[in-house]
Amino acid sequence: MVLDPPTLIVSAGMSAGVLFVVLVVSWLQDRTTTALLWWSAALAIAASGLVLYTSAARASDPAREFGNAMFLLASGCVYAGACRFNRRPISPAIMLAAPIAWLAAVWTVEMSFAARVSYGSILFAALAIASAWEFWRGDRLIFQRGAAVIMSMQATFFLARIASGPAIFMEGGGESLDNNWATVMGVSSLLYVNVIGYFMLGMAKERADIANRRAALSDPLTGVGNRRGFLAAGERLLAQAKGAPVTLLLFDLDHFKAVNDRHGHSIGDDVLVGFCDVLRAELPASAVIGRMGGEEFAVTIVGAEAGRALDIAESVRTRFARDWGVRDGLAIEATVSAGIAADPIGVTGLVTLLSRADSALYRAKAAGRDRIETAAASPVPA
Ligand code: GH3
Ligand code: MG
Ligand code: MG
Repeated sequence: MVLDPPTLIVSAGMSAGVLFVVLVVSWLQDRTTTALLWWSAALAIAASGLVLYTSAARASDPAREFGNAMFLLASGCVYAGACRFNRRPISPAIMLAAPIAWLAAVWTVEMSFAARVSYGSILFAALAIASAWEFWRGDRLIFQRGAAVIMSMQATFFLARIASGPAIFMEGGGESLDNNWATVMGVSSLLYVNVIGYFMLGMAKERADIANRRAALSDPLTGVGNRRGFLAAGERLLAQAKGAPVTLLLFDLDHFKAVNDRHGHSIGDDVLVGFCDVLRAELPASAVIGRMGGEEFAVTIVGAEAGRALDIAESVRTRFARDWGVRDGLAIEATVSAGIAADPIGVTGLVTLLSRADSALYRAKAAGRDRIETAAASPVPA
C-alpha cells in the first residue's frame, strides 16, 4: 500500500473542517462552554494552514512559513480552550508567542532545513506540553485525561522529530512532500485531528452529563439533595456503614405555612435556605442531607451513637431558633421539630428508618413543636 503524503494532508484538512462545524454546532447548543469555540477556531486555523502548506512548492516558500505559523496558532488555540475549559484565564502571551517566534526566526535568521525542523518542533512540543498539563490538571474527566495523553504523545512525537529529523530529512533534501517523513507527518496529522476533535467533544459532553445528573438529584433552592438524591446517597452511606451505628433525623419546620403567610413566600424561601446552612454548620461532613419535600428535611449520619446524634439534632434545633427567631429586626419566630430513628448496628433499611423517624416527628409535633423525639429502639434482627 502506498500512502500519498499530499492526499493524507488534504484528508487531515477535510477532517479538521468537518470537526470545526461539529464543534461550532455543539457550542451553539451549550454556549457556556466557550472552550468549544477556541477548539473550533483551532481546527479552522489548522485546516486553512494545511491549504497554505500544501500550496507551497518549497519548504522556504512564504506560504509554507505562514502554514507553519497557523499550525502553531492552532496549537495555541487548543491550549487556550484547555484553559477556558478549566475556567482559567487565557494567557495571550503563551498563545501567540510560538507563531510570532516562528515567523520572526525564519524571516531574520538563515537556517538550514534541519535547523528549521528542530526549531519548529521545539515550539510545537512546548505548546503540546502546556496543553497536556492543562488537560491533566482539570476535572479528571475521562475524556480530559485522554486528551492529556494525546497531547503528551504529540509532544513526544515532536521531541522525537528533533532527535531524528535531520537524518531523515536528508533523504530527498526534505524540500518536497514526497519523502517517508512527510508520510509519517500526514498519517499523524490525520489521526491527531480526528482523535483530539472527538475527545474535545467528549469532554464537553461528559461535563454536561455530570451537571445534568447532579441537577436531577439536588434541590435547586437549597442546594442539598432532593428526595431521589437523598435516597441514593443515603443507601450508599448505609452500604458503607458495615455494622456502624446509623441514625436518621427527620426535620420539619414548625407552622411554616404561617411564616409564609406573615412574611411572604420570599422570606419563607430564605428561611429554608437558612435552615440548610444551619444543617451544614452543625452536622458532620459525612452526613447526607436531603429535602424530602416542602419544609421537610432528612439527614443520615453513620458512626455516631444515638446520644451523640440527639446532641447534634439539639444543636440544629437551638441554633435555628436562635438564628431565625429574629432576623434583621424581623420576628420570624421560625422553629423546627425533629424525629430520630437510630440503629446501633446499621442493619435497618433507609425506608424503615424514615418511617420510624416520621412517627417520632409526629409525636414531636403533637407535643407542642420546637422539640425532638426519638423512636423506640429497633427490634434486634434474629
Ligand atoms: P407544621 O408545624 O404542622 O409542620 O405546620 P406547617 O405549616 O409547617 O405545615 P404545612 O404542611 O401545613 O405547611 C407547609 C408549608 O410549607 C406550606 C407551603 O406553602 C410551604 N412551602 C412548601 N414548599 C415551600 C417553598 O419552597 N418555599 C416556601 N416559601 N414555602 C414552601
Ligand atoms: Mg411543617
Ligand atoms: Mg411538613
